[in-house]
Amino acid sequence: MREKLPICKFEEEIVKVVRENPVVVIIGETGSGKSTQLSQILDRHGYTDRGAIAVTQPRRVAAVSVSRRVAHELGVQLGEEVGYAIRFEDRTSDKTRIKYLTDGCLLRENLSDPELKQYSVIILDEAHERSLNTDILLGLMKHLVRVRHLDLRVIITSATLDGAKVSNFFSDCPILAVPGKLFPVEIFYSSEPPKNYIESSLKSAIDIHVKEPPGDVLLFMTGQEDIEKTVSKLEERIRSLEEGSCMGAIILPLHGSLPPEMQVRVFQPAPQNCRRFIVATNIAETSLTVDGVVYVIDSGYVKQRYYNPSKGMYSLDIVKISRVQADQRAGRAGRTCPGKCYRLYPSSMYYGELLEATVPEIQRSSLAGSVLYLKSLDLRDIDVLQFDFLDRPSPLSLEDALKQLYLIDAIDENGSITKVGQLMAELPLEPSLARTLIAANEFGCLPEALTVAAMLSTDTFLLPSNSKGGEKKRKQIITNLPNGSGWGDHIQLLQIYNTWHQMDYDPRWCKDNGLHVRSMIFARDVRRQLCQIMQKMAKGPLDVRADRRASEIDRDYTSLRKALSIGFANRIAERMLHHNGYRTLGYKSELVQVHPSCVLKSGDSGLLPDYVVYNELLATPRLVLRNVCAVEMPWVTPIFGKLGNLDVKKLSGGRNVSEQQSPQGTDPLKVQASTKNDNGI
Ligand code: ADP
Repeated sequence: MREKLPICKFEEEIVKVVRENPVVVIIGETGSGKSTQLSQILDRHGYTDRGAIAVTQPRRVAAVSVSRRVAHELGVQLGEEVGYAIRFEDRTSDKTRIKYLTDGCLLRENLSDPELKQYSVIILDEAHERSLNTDILLGLMKHLVRVRHLDLRVIITSATLDGAKVSNFFSDCPILAVPGKLFPVEIFYSSEPPKNYIESSLKSAIDIHVKEPPGDVLLFMTGQEDIEKTVSKLEERIRSLEEGSCMGAIILPLHGSLPPEMQVRVFQPAPQNCRRFIVATNIAETSLTVDGVVYVIDSGYVKQRYYNPSKGMYSLDIVKISRVQADQRAGRAGRTCPGKCYRLYPSSMYYGELLEATVPEIQRSSLAGSVLYLKSLDLRDIDVLQFDFLDRPSPLSLEDALKQLYLIDAIDENGSITKVGQLMAELPLEPSLARTLIAANEFGCLPEALTVAAMLSTDTFLLPSNSKGGEKKRKQIITNLPNGSGWGDHIQLLQIYNTWHQMDYDPRWCKDNGLHVRSMIFARDVRRQLCQIMQKMAKGPLDVRADRRASEIDRDYTSLRKALSIGFANRIAERMLHHNGYRTLGYKSELVQVHPSCVLKSGDSGLLPDYVVYNELLATPRLVLRNVCAVEMPWVTPIFGKLGNLDVKKLSGGRNVSEQQSPQGTDPLKVQASTKNDNGI
């Protein structure tokens, strides 16, 4: 199979261009072999003699899946010569020559090893996804290539990226295009947009199954919930077709939270006289290549998170895909033979309404974590606000990040990173949770805060409410919890975990109580890792026991809630007496309700606390707070003082963020290069 992949025919060219240039952009059709073969080609040509090859992936599932594939192709044990590292999981050893890792993991490694000396080559794979972390890595690579002179090779690979733009970003580095072998794909449009895209997809899938010759079908859905619904309905409808009227069918889901043993199933070819239906998220657009697909059904939609920096609010919207995405989806049908793509929307929508390209994540995310990260790096000559981004984030989101960081003590009023901020950056958690752990350590409630942080890192531990008895079981566990979870969701998460701990981490207990076993085990692993990191930071043993007795924890969880009020000082809401809910503080004030899944319910007015901290403000489209915890007035009073003193101009080092020059014209690396030995790229 390896010989057949298009990229393998370009081995000599690749080796030559990489030898002669510190930075190279490689553009190749999805499935041409970029993720699995490039690292092996460079390994064969001696690039692992002086260091390892790092290949970054924006998605955890791709890092695991591709490394597994490469280990298999090289006939080695995964975790030895070929390994992977994703947040909270490291399967590498001293022997590892080819390491697949998420872009976030490489950023983290860069903290302890600013020159990333262990690597001779860094491949930023799937750059077209324009993940927030890959965008930051692009800027850092520019810096690193100069710092390490000719000692490092950087390759940026992409299926669809605007190669000229990236090449221009890297001082016009060469672009190597690897032509893939794609068969023609016939496109069919619907006459109008779908009223219900699940129904329309099901109808198309059945039509194909009944009328079309053999070949697998790939259906693009927006998320796990849609996928589960579609899979079960499709199973039902295929079962109801007259026996013997068509070939057999296998229906497979494919999304990021699927357990590994389920993921690998999509790489196994269909048995004789059997058609596979793969129901996937946009993960199958470019991240994972599924062979054997001849028919694609494209709903035209994708689920995307948008952050509104003026309100500190997230919305999870189902939005129209971009034209680039639509083309990628169609392309999946033509990998092995001519294919067909059924777009469930009219051509007028494709040409007239779809955006040309997807909005990069950096322009639709909260940047608090990234700004803290950049501030914690010792880039003396680079001002964070002047950081060289491929596409600049909006001034509003940079201002928002600075405000948030100031409120949680990560930066001082002049925008300089504080000691607390440095510690926070070392924790692989979002800044508020990191701040909570540090405060909890001071207040003697670290064991409980570690549990809350671990549980909040696992957002799918509840079985879907439509699962067999899921909702009922969950209600039952909640009623059985000890008193006190009325303080809020964080406390409830702690109590759920502690009860599981008392049951010796029995998986049956999870199932019996409507909890995902795998997610709970993940939370336990995360907790264990966070304990290790905290012990390392403290340079000594800390009390991190998960089994502290109730008598050892203060009544009403006061210390833990106090620690949360410090960590989430950027997310406080105040009770509105004449409104059945709260108003957010620190942002453009919004009237909000508590999400129905929260322990504190707006309905029980008598029980609602005056102040709460929240994990997330979501537009659903109603504005709701998710994961809410009661805090006390005296703890939030100092925040009011800080809010009153907030001066964004001072925070951004005396400049106006919106007046920041685009770095395009004033390349800070070029300024530095003029005073140092410039080997140019
Ligand atoms: P690209 O990065 O250019 O999209 P890849 O290197 O990911 O291409 O894929 C090349 C080939 O390897 C494809 O045919 C794909 O199906 C196969 N492949 C990739 N990962 C796996 C895996 N985990 N198991 C089986 N086959 C895989």
